[in-house]
This record gives sequence, C-alpha cells and structure tokens, in this order.
Amino acid sequence: MKLAIFDRDGVIDDNSVCYYVYRKEDFKFNPGVVHTLVHLTRQGYCIAVVSNQSGIAKGVYTLQDVNILHDWMTDELARQGAVIQRIYVCPHHPSVSNCLCRKPQPLLLEKAMSEMGAKPEETFFVGDSDTDIKAGAAAGIRTIKVEPNGDLYRQLREQGVIEDRGKRIEESLKSKV
Ligand SMILES: [Mg+2]
Ligand SMILES: [Zn+2]
Repeated sequence: MKLAIFDRDGVIDDNSVCYYVYRKEDFKFNPGVVHTLVHLTRQGYCIAVVSNQSGIAKGVYTLQDVNILHDWMTDELARQGAVIQRIYVCPHHPSVSNCLCRKPQPLLLEKAMSEMGAKPEETFFVGDSDTDIKAGAAAGIRTIKVEPNGDLYRQLREQGVIEDRGKRIEESLKSKV
C-alpha cells in the first residue's frame, strides 16, 4: 500500500495568521492542497495526517474541538475527491506531560504505516518544520520539507514527489519535433 503522510498546520492549512487553528472559521486550505490530495487519491495512495496539537495539553482547546474540525476538513476534501483515511494527533506538550507520540518522535508515523499496511519504502511524509524532518528520518521514510503555507502542489512537483503529466506530455511532444 502506497502511503502519503502530511503534517497539518503550515502544510494542509495556513497557520500564518492564527497559530492555534481549531475552529473552521480560522481554517484555510493552503494553495495546491486540494489538487495534491485529489491527485494522490487518484494515484491510489492512502493518505494520512500526523499533527502535534499541544493546544490541547495547554487547555487552549479540546480534543473534541479538533475532532469536529477534522470531520469538517475531511468532508470538505472528500466532496472534492480527496480521501484522508486517518488523522493522528499528539495532544501533549512537554510543559504539561511527556509522551512518546509528539514529533520529532516517529511513533505516530510508524502507527500510520502499521495501520495502513505500508512499508517504509512505500511511504513518504511531507512537513514544514525541522521537527517533521527529524520524525521522518527516525521513521526511516522519505521526508520532504516544504515552505510553510506555500503552494503544496507546486513544491511537491518541483521536488519530484508528484509528476506533472501535462509537462511530461509536452516534453514528449517536443522530443518528437
Ligand atoms: Mg507544521
Ligand atoms: Zn503525545
């Protein structure tokens, strides 16, 4: 099973205005996200999200707030043809209590692979912070760093994660001239 895992804040949604995104009024998809997830869904990828949500431990919002937001987010995406299978959340913060699941620890990435039946070599992870890169490295999977809140599709295409079919056709036409 091919598996694509994404960090949430800064990758899926814009966190440049609001640091703690837990209400749908504050939730804005980053450019290219829907395009990317639809593309991967069509390519037969399983898609998962792994997110640190320390605002829960700090009492800024609750796990229920996050679950409601995630239900809304996955419905919005599904309506457009992008299927997120599973979202893994670490609700902890070291200032409150230690845990084994907060990135840069690889536990939630490993859990996603195990639950989706994906081998590390069939999996990639996209994140926007050093914490993500460390977690991906510790899980032994291909890890791609993107600019926070940038165009996800464009960045993944530039980094060779997503193939641009339009471009490929154009090039094969060019080579025939
Ligand atoms: Mg992030
Ligand atoms: Zn945790």
